[in-house]
Amino acid sequence: LFPLAGKRVLVAGHKGMAGSSVVRRLERENCAILTADREEVDMSRQAEVEDWLAAIKPDAIFLAAAKVGGIHANSTRPAEFLYDNLIIEANVIHNAYKAGVKKLLFLGSSCIYPRGAAQPIKEEALLTGPLEPTNDAYALAKIAGIKLCETYRKQYGADFISAMPTNLYGPGDRYDLEHGHVVAALIMKIHAAKKAGNKEVVLWGTGTPLREFLYTEDLADGLVYLMKHYSGAPHVNLGTGVEHTIRQLAEAIAKAAGWEGRFVYDTTKPDGMPRKVMDVSRMTALGWTAQTRFEDGIKAAYEWYVGQRC
Ligand code: GDP
Repeated sequence: LFPLAGKRVLVAGHKGMAGSSVVRRLERENCAILTADREEVDMSRQAEVEDWLAAIKPDAIFLAAAKVGGIHANSTRPAEFLYDNLIIEANVIHNAYKAGVKKLLFLGSSCIYPRGAAQPIKEEALLTGPLEPTNDAYALAKIAGIKLCETYRKQYGADFISAMPTNLYGPGDRYDLEHGHVVAALIMKIHAAKKAGNKEVVLWGTGTPLREFLYTEDLADGLVYLMKHYSGAPHVNLGTGVEHTIRQLAEAIAKAAGWEGRFVYDTTKPDGMPRKVMDVSRMTALGWTAQTRFEDGIKAAYEWYVGQRC
C-alpha cells in the first residue's frame, strides 16, 4: 500500500481532461498537489524537466501529460503524436528516477493493442500483432512509455507503473470538431443541431464500430486506486468492460440533449478499430470497478459542455 496522505504528489498534464480529473480526485486525499503550467516547464525540454523535478522533489507522479486527439488528428499528424509523446514520457520518467521519485503512474491508452487482438482485450495482447494504422504513431509512443516503466523497474528497482485507460469523456474534454475524440465531437454536433433546429447530424464512418467509454471521474478514481494499491510490471487496463456502437453513443447524446433527428453517415471518413473493448478483470481483481452508468456520464458531459458555453 502507498498512502497518499502527507505526500507531495505531482500531476503532470493537469490542464488536460485526465490530469484535471486526477487533481479534483486528489483533493480528497490530504496530500500536497503539485502542478506546473506550460510557461513554467516545457516537458519536451530535457534540462527543464531535470531542474524542475530536482527542485520540487515529488514523492509521486501521475504522468498524464501527452499529446492526444481523436481519429482525424491521429491519422493526419502522426509525427507530432509520436515525437511529442516520446519526448515527454522519456524526460519525465528518466528524471523522476534521477530525482528519487518513489512512485510514478504512467497513463497509456487502449490503442496500444493490436488491431486484430482478441476481444475483450487482455493486457497480455500487447505486442502480439500489427497496430491499427489510424493511431499507430500514438500507440508506439505509449508502448515505449510502458516499456520505460518496466525497464526502470527491472534495472533500477523504480516503482513505476502503467494504466491503460479506454476512450475517455467528460468535463475538461477537448471540444474540437476536427481534433477531438468522438464523444466531445458528437456532443458539439448534436447541441449545434438542436440550437439551429436541424434535423440531421453527420457521423463519421459507418456508426458500427464498438467502443468502451470511461467517464473522467471514474478514470481519476481508478488511477488514484492504482497509485495506492498496485505495484508491478504488467500494465493494467482501466475501463468499464462495457461497449457501445458509435450509433448508440450518438443516440445516448441525442437523448441527453433532448434532440430528435436522424443520423447520416459519412463513410469517406475512417471507422478505425472495428471493436475496442478491454478485459478489465485485472483491475476488478485488484478491487476496483467503474461506478458511473453510461447514460449518467453522457448526461453529465453534455451538461458540462452546455454550462461552459453560457
Ligand atoms: P478512436 O477510438 O481512437 O478511433 O478515436 P475517436 O474517439 O476519435 O473515435 C473514433 C470513432 O468514432 C471512429 O469509428 C469514427 O468513425 C467515429 N466517429 C463518428 N463521428 C465522429 C466525429 O465527429 N469525430 C470523431 N473523432 N469520431 C467520430
